[in-house]
Amino acid sequence: EAKMSVNATSLAERLARPELLTLEPYQSARRIGGEGQIWINANESPFINSDLDSLNRYPECQPPELITRYAEYAGVSNQQVLTSRGADEAIELLIRTFCIPGRDSIACFGPTYGMYAISAKTFNVGVKALRLDDEYQLPQELCSQVGDAKLVFICNPNNPTGTVIAPDAIEAVIRSLPDTLVVVDEAYIEFCPDYSVASLLDKYDNLIVLRTLSKAFALAGARCGFMLATPEVIEMVMRVIAPYPVPLPVAKLAIDALSKDGIARMQTQVAQLKANGQRLADALREAGARVLPAYGNFVLAYFDQANEIKVGEMQARLKQTGVVARAYKDPALADAIRFSFASDAQTETLIAI
Ligand code: PMP
Repeated sequence: EAKMSVNATSLAERLARPELLTLEPYQSARRIGGEGQIWINANESPFINSDLDSLNRYPECQPPELITRYAEYAGVSNQQVLTSRGADEAIELLIRTFCIPGRDSIACFGPTYGMYAISAKTFNVGVKALRLDDEYQLPQELCSQVGDAKLVFICNPNNPTGTVIAPDAIEAVIRSLPDTLVVVDEAYIEFCPDYSVASLLDKYDNLIVLRTLSKAFALAGARCGFMLATPEVIEMVMRVIAPYPVPLPVAKLAIDALSKDGIARMQTQVAQLKANGQRLADALREAGARVLPAYGNFVLAYFDQANEIKVGEMQARLKQTGVVARAYKDPALADAIRFSFASDAQTETLIAI
């Protein structure tokens, strides 16, 4: 079995929950077992009831071909990739690996993706709910605000604002917090690839990047995400992850999506969605909404007091037409509606509304 060596003084070991240090990672990159023809080691059934070959067997813990394909796609090494049940599982795994319940905390910058705070709270981990500034950038006093948080989540592009933070500004944070894990959630990065910080992974042991096939790759139903980090961080997270996180059919789908053709198709679709999103944003602006710059596959539009159309009226219009859009409870977003970029025909309907 491939065993990764962990440097005794790695940041991952210093920051992990202490009880994890005494746990042997119970799984390797390969399927539990060994070499041979007659597999009676895992209480599986010998019967094949599906067209999918080997569905009667447990899948690989970290399917090697999937890891190789994603590493190539992301421009990192295989040892820097872990696959999980969506980026959501990766968020939860990081909290469960590094935060001591009842003592530690995470930090994030609102308004942002809700699962950082929700995952932390379900594990009795504190949440420093910091705020982006008026330009949707990281606050000047970030370091003192973050304090002793174990994990700092930066969503880039940010959901739900759709705004971005320049890689230089993120690198400055990574440098200024050398003993904190900086988690950059790049769920929407295919819509603005120049903003990725994945190329910094070789340079900093405290950087973690989250990715997903749910957005640009159009596989939200498959539940397939990735964590890019140092081998030491990944080895530590492997001590916490459930035995077989990626179902075999999902691994097959994901491997296809990450083929040369799959990536080319994704890029074509991204271009089409961005064009439609641009038309939608223009229409929203013409209708008097305040529209934020949209770097993901969605646009946030404010229908506030100054606008001709109020948010309630727009919500009613959308509902009447059978359009399901996202509204928010956060007071800062009370007048805002988030529109996901849509197909050509759907975009026509939205513009008409
Ligand atoms: N991060 C962000 C910023 C998201 O918007 C989402 C999906 N809503 C996720 C992570 C979760 O992605 P996944 O489907 O891979 O769990």
